[in-house]
Amino acid sequence: MELFDTSKSILQEIRLDPGKFRNVRLLVKRDDLIHPEVSGNKWRKLKYNIELAEYQKKDGILTFGGAYSNHLLAVAAACVSAGLKSIGVVRGEELNSESNENLKRCSELGMELKFVSRESYDERNEKSCQEGWKEAHPHFLLVPEGGANYYGMVGCQEIWKELSEKVDHVFVAQGTTTTSCGLLIGSAENTVLHVVPALKGFDSEAEMRKQLFPFLIDEETIDDYMRRVEVHPEAHFGGYGKWTPDLLDFISSCKNAYDLPLDKIYTGKAFHALMEWLKQQDFNIPQTILFIHTGGLKNGGV
Ligand SMILES: *Cc1c(COP(=O)(O)O)cnc(C)c1O
Repeated sequence: MELFDTSKSILQEIRLDPGKFRNVRLLVKRDDLIHPEVSGNKWRKLKYNIELAEYQKKDGILTFGGAYSNHLLAVAAACVSAGLKSIGVVRGEELNSESNENLKRCSELGMELKFVSRESYDERNEKSCQEGWKEAHPHFLLVPEGGANYYGMVGCQEIWKELSEKVDHVFVAQGTTTTSCGLLIGSAENTVLHVVPALKGFDSEAEMRKQLFPFLIDEETIDDYMRRVEVHPEAHFGGYGKWTPDLLDFISSCKNAYDLPLDKIYTGKAFHALMEWLKQQDFNIPQTILFIHTGGLKNGGV
């Protein structure tokens, strides 16, 4: 199916100053180029969810998100391409389909938007709430916010199939941890996974363990994998949806110097963490560092 074509996600080599960065080869996997609206990792997380909806002969997908959610837009666009319907449960009863460009576009793509109070949105993952949505929409597959489920993780694991080089360190932005967990599971034994949460005070380790459980089952195996994870918890620039003039300057300098567009919610912060980390390294042997560009340019571009 054309929707699941990843051939546009190129591997871009970033030319760093060899005087400042010794023994470093920096590569960027440009998942932001996959699709104009189903951006980056959202595409990967939806692939098997959409296949499941088709296999179960569902009419469409019902999912959850905030007003500026990249995930909602991705579901709306991916469902159109797959010939499925979509329902988006949106946080905030005061909103409507004209409230912002993101919601407007979701609605244009045919997504049926249901606005709920913050209190009832907070209960979205509870069993009784899930059952309620299922009963009301039996012909829809429920997908959690951010595509954060087993199928989402399996889709993200496939990124490695498109890469042939040996990677020593891989960096990725983190929201629900689904993308990072998929990368971890699919990575080679000696690869270190660096995760950069966009949320302040986020417990990356606990969230990753929860997400990995349905895949690895055994706690000891989870421990083994988690030993290869390095968290960069202080790279959030104030928290989710926040940014500073310094971050915006950094983003425009990357655009100018490397022709690398970044967003201000996720990838700008993660790439900044990578560059700060790189400045502190002095490698004796050549290292390949990979940055996963998870997209986000449509809603978080500068
Ligand atoms: C949603 C999103 C993330 C977070 O991915 P998770 O799998 O939820 O951790 C990272 N980057 C961008 C651009 C996103 O839109």
